[in-house]
Amino acid sequence: MSTVHAPVNAAARSTRQWQEADSAHFMHPFTDHAGLARKGARIITRAENIYLWDSEGHKILDAMSGLWCVNVGYGQQALVDAASRQMKELPFYNAFFQTSTPPAIQLAELLAEVTPPQFSKVFFTSSGSEGNDTVVRMVRHYWASLGQPERQVIIGRKNGYHGSTMAGASLGGMSGMHAQGGLPIPGIVHIEQPHWFELGREQSREDFGLTAARWLEARILEIGPEKVAAFIGEPVQGAGGVIVPPSTYWPEIQRICDRYGILLVSDEVICGFGRTGQWFGCETMGTKPDLMTFAKGVTSGYIPLGGVMVSDKVARVLIEQGGEFNHGFTYSGHPTACAVAVANIRLIQQLNLVSHVRQNIGPLLAEGFASLADHPLVGETQTCGMMGALQLVKDKAGGQAFDPALEVGMLCRAHCFGNGLIMRAVGDRMIVAPPLVMTRDQVDEMLALIRRCLDLTLAELQAKGWL
Ligand SMILES: *Cc1c(COP(=O)(O)O)cnc(C)c1O
Repeated sequence: MSTVHAPVNAAARSTRQWQEADSAHFMHPFTDHAGLARKGARIITRAENIYLWDSEGHKILDAMSGLWCVNVGYGQQALVDAASRQMKELPFYNAFFQTSTPPAIQLAELLAEVTPPQFSKVFFTSSGSEGNDTVVRMVRHYWASLGQPERQVIIGRKNGYHGSTMAGASLGGMSGMHAQGGLPIPGIVHIEQPHWFELGREQSREDFGLTAARWLEARILEIGPEKVAAFIGEPVQGAGGVIVPPSTYWPEIQRICDRYGILLVSDEVICGFGRTGQWFGCETMGTKPDLMTFAKGVTSGYIPLGGVMVSDKVARVLIEQGGEFNHGFTYSGHPTACAVAVANIRLIQQLNLVSHVRQNIGPLLAEGFASLADHPLVGETQTCGMMGALQLVKDKAGGQAFDPALEVGMLCRAHCFGNGLIMRAVGDRMIVAPPLVMTRDQVDEMLALIRRCLDLTLAELQAKGWL
């Protein structure tokens, strides 16, 4: 007997019904469920280009690219076709049994082409977190293979984000995550982030960049360089609040890693695939990483895929001295995911999205954000390619912050949601990372919406007497 299932579409149920079923059965990531149950989730039903629609028919400009990932925008038929073709031909086969599949091979080849020259090999995962778990095991195995098993310690940064698995969350420096579940795991330590507005305003940005990088050197010397395996960082901290480091920071980090022979890992999960105006963030920042984690933009979020680019220097040791690497996932090199990634990267190439960001819409976003600096609520603005941050402050002249308990960022975010704009709040820092396919007119449309929402936030704060 066959069961006929009703098609799952928005018309089939009312918003309220979706919300009730959601709250009865679906545990969301990073969510306070008691709070969500009171409000009800917003049900997103459809998307096209840079816009989303919810179950009530509201149109929303998605200035977060889903979750930093929909680089080519929604509705790209080439990606849909690639998935559908591959699913018909060979939806899945593994790469464990000395077997391989054409899409995984093609994607590996294409990644070697678009990544910096030191990379010609890739290890596939299904997410950024799994990529960073792979990094931890791989760098420790690398040093053990070289006869230096005591090199175990990996240094990350406070307020960095490297995912949510045990190792990913440990590498990251989110205090809220470390407070639950016994993290970080052993052998992972953190230095302060290069956040000039919060930590360095008594220095020039450039001087502070050097100061912040030298916190790494101090920590290496404290631990003993012979015990340090690697340093990991995002070129621009994303989830931490789009914190663009001073231009002096990354070159000094590179110098320090070189000096002590420590592997440099660039977490490119957000910064990769054109986000910063180069293919990868390390190219924008001027570093030559030994390993590079990617996910999100590799498929523009159409299907889960991640991985680690392995430099020739590291790959040689692993291959010649490492023996079998006892690590991998069922879906490492998943053919359907890889086929979508190939179509996505080719589309980025065809549309020239990397130079579109660098020469066209990135500078426009930078100009627009600089002009928002005149707003009474805005204490600092930063952009890098198609990422931007606005720091909301109580007293513009003195740069004084609001009481965090007021949750001014969340209040601003509510005005954005209410006015057809998705902009995220990290504390009182408002951030965007829009799709790279935006036209100049769409950037202007987004900037006008942002200014309007800042004005509405200002008016509400004045009405409440919080200013
Ligand atoms: C999102 C993110 C991750 C984790 O990726 P998942 O696919 O969510 O596991 C890791 N690093 C950075 C920089 C990220 O932004």
